[in-house]
Amino acid sequence: MASVAATAATTNYYKVSTEPDAWVSNDGGVWSAQTAVGDAVAATMVDANGVPTNTVVLNTSFDNLQFAGLNVAASQNLALVHEALHTGTQLNEFQLAAKLGLGTFDNTLEGLKAASLSISLYLRYDCPPGQ
Ligand SMILES: [Zn+2]
Repeated sequence: MASVAATAATTNYYKVSTEPDAWVSNDGGVWSAQTAVGDAVAATMVDANGVPTNTVVLNTSFDNLQFAGLNVAASQNLALVHEALHTGTQLNEFQLAAKLGLGTFDNTLEGLKAASLSISLYLRYDCPPGQ
């Protein structure tokens, strides 16, 4: 976890709500932060090979995020930890879910969203072992 924390301390964060015109590299191209994050609350940008980089985009929905019964601050912290796991390990959604023992997910957009949600729920409920 030390490397995850060290990486998080040097992560470049972009907030769509305060930097709507920011441009970020993602998936081999350059996009507006809004386009790059899509409809996700937050997203770690990836390189052309799909490997997580050290850039995170926070969507407007991050500003008032309330996740699974948590207040805004706790929800935002959870989202930041989630992204820090990507930047710190360079594992994508599917790889990170598998590493945490959350199973495998279909390689589709729906599968990606399900893997992401499972990671956030895992963090939300204090990282239960043996899932
Ligand atoms: Zn994720």
